[in-house]
Amino acid sequence: MDYEAFFRQRLDVLRAEGRYRVFADLERRRGRFPRAFDHRIGAEVTVWCSNDYLGMGQHPVVLAAMTQAIEALGAGTGGTRNISGNGHLHLELEQELADLHGREAALVFTSGYVANEAALSTLAEGIPGTVVLSDAMNHASMIAGIRNSRAEKQIFRHNDADDLARRLAALPPERPKLVCFESVYSMDGDIAPIAELCDVADHYGAMTYLDEVHAVGLYGRRGGGIAERDGVLRRPSVIQGTLAKAFGVMGGYVAGSAALVDFLRSHAPGFIFTTSLPPALVAGALAAVRHLKESQAERLRHQDRVALVKRRLVEAGLPVMPSESHIVPVLIGDAALCKAASDALLHRHRLYAQPINYPTVPRGTERLRLTPTPLHSDGDIETLVAALSEVWQSLTLRKVA
Ligand SMILES: *Cc1c(COP(=O)(O)O)cnc(C)c1O
Repeated sequence: MDYEAFFRQRLDVLRAEGRYRVFADLERRRGRFPRAFDHRIGAEVTVWCSNDYLGMGQHPVVLAAMTQAIEALGAGTGGTRNISGNGHLHLELEQELADLHGREAALVFTSGYVANEAALSTLAEGIPGTVVLSDAMNHASMIAGIRNSRAEKQIFRHNDADDLARRLAALPPERPKLVCFESVYSMDGDIAPIAELCDVADHYGAMTYLDEVHAVGLYGRRGGGIAERDGVLRRPSVIQGTLAKAFGVMGGYVAGSAALVDFLRSHAPGFIFTTSLPPALVAGALAAVRHLKESQAERLRHQDRVALVKRRLVEAGLPVMPSESHIVPVLIGDAALCKAASDALLHRHRLYAQPINYPTVPRGTERLRLTPTPLHSDGDIETLVAALSEVWQSLTLRKVA
């Protein structure tokens, strides 16, 4: 077989479909958020699609903690948590996260992806006979974990407690069941009915696993996520989150009962067989979590910016998709046009919003996904709306009637 030809041919397919991924050559510079230097065009751009939702990645409290950790503790940990890499800071962070979610314990992984893959594969494989019930819109990392468990799986209709109930009712009562879903879905910005899904799961004796990656730090009085905001913090059996999005650093975690977390600590290969996070990352995450437990300023300003962006886009007749959260998707509906719109924003307006194409979203729903932050000014928002209007006109994209 000609392997090289195979790779090139498969890449040509992506290009022909207009969904070949081109990564921006960006350099985030401290103090300039939400701007970054784009090396492709040799100019500073305003970033409108960062998952550093609150700008904590450049917050002075976080940077000071990270700098201090490097000075005091050095660069790496020197091993897995088992092989002398069990830093004191890791334990402190886990306590802080357990407290954030009102749980007995938490466990930190190298990323949110790894947390989902490791925890779901270990739970679904480790509890003999488990059937996994997975929301149709679940993230790739949850799907990977479920698949790697080799457990039986059913997909229930997105955010549909009735479909979940029908499926659970049809399963033998004695079989272990694991229901997995997210709180905020990152592409549409819709929010799960956590209480309803937990009611159904409880009724049929199922465990629940909630990915709050796009909600931790952002919702709830202490940043505990949608479960905290909705007063159902203790309902899901497991809450999973990231330290990389609203907390601005890197790493992932799960929180749950002491026994469940100890079970994962003892069995999950994705936790056991990998070097633990460097102390600077742990210190930065710890500072961010602590800061956002106390401070409402970032969350309030964030919601204010989101509301303003949505309102101004609607006023301009741009096709904002209905979103209940801080995520602002604007529909284009064609992969090539989506890429063209993103390119035009960059080259003509120095605005960066990457195209979201299949397979991240279904074909025909290609979109720009805007994420306003507390650091986007009124002026930034007006510039964005004017630029989008110009691009919509020049590409004759669909507007709202
Ligand atoms: C980003 C994301 C993850 C992975 O988190 P990382 O910390 O970036 O690895 C998991 N779940 C969802 C829903 C995500 O969007």
